[in-house]
Amino acid sequence: MERKPPWLRAKIPSGPGYTKVKDLVKENRLHTVCESAHCPNLGECWSRGTATIMILGETCTRSCRFCAIATGKPGEVDFGEPARVADAVRIMGLKHAVITSVARDDLPDGGADIWARTVRAVKHVNPETHIEVLIPDFKGQEEPLNAVLDADPDILNHNMETVRRLQKPVRVQAQYERSLEVLRRAKARGFVTKTGLMLGIGEKEEEIEETLGDLAAEKVDILTLGQYLRPTQKHLPIDRWVTPDEFATWKERALVLGFGVCESGPMVRSSYHAEEQSAKYTGVTSLHHT
Ligand code: SF4
Repeated sequence: MERKPPWLRAKIPSGPGYTKVKDLVKENRLHTVCESAHCPNLGECWSRGTATIMILGETCTRSCRFCAIATGKPGEVDFGEPARVADAVRIMGLKHAVITSVARDDLPDGGADIWARTVRAVKHVNPETHIEVLIPDFKGQEEPLNAVLDADPDILNHNMETVRRLQKPVRVQAQYERSLEVLRRAKARGFVTKTGLMLGIGEKEEEIEETLGDLAAEKVDILTLGQYLRPTQKHLPIDRWVTPDEFATWKERALVLGFGVCESGPMVRSSYHAEEQSAKYTGVTSLHHT
């Protein structure tokens, strides 16, 4: 594997916060994208007492070439999951909860029903908690997207992941225009929208510029930019290590283009310090209820 530059050293998971989150996830039979995607921030986030819960199982119907989540035939839909997610958010005491899912192209609604049930359950049990949903594209279908939006999350996040030219080799079953459409539709319904890109996977400077312009044209509110990390040898190789200075330059550029917030740095992920990324829109200034 590629040798990481010094600015990419991850925190070793430890401490009571980490143990609490680990036990909670296990006891509630939940899945997290933190574990499934081999996120480098797991040590830090779990030690802070937060995790990003991944609903609809741990097996994805898609085979994105950057992602460590297992691909295959998912199991049965678990209708007890929304209540367990809601309870986990309560026990973690989160003011800002991020929920994501695998892609469920095997289901006619892409899993939107469970998505909506989960958002409603979390809101019901945690009325003071802001909910950020990091959703798949539902194959571009408007009805499933509307079902999730009808449940009224606070932030609608859908990651572009990469530039136009690299969609096919990187995301395989996804499409650039389709992802833009998800963000456009959510914005048209008045939602705060958010997206993210990985850098260092083969994109060129002018392609980043084009993508930021396209996203700004959709009035996306929050942008995250982070370094692509290769999860295993079977995944796409790292093209380059993007320096902290370059990330800072892209942040400045994004703000000039009109994004309300841009978090840009080697370790930035959609859900990394997500409560801080969206504080401008939610007013949430700390992670936990006191
Ligand atoms: S950045 Fe997100 S996915 Fe990674 S450990 Fe933190 S909460 Fe989990």
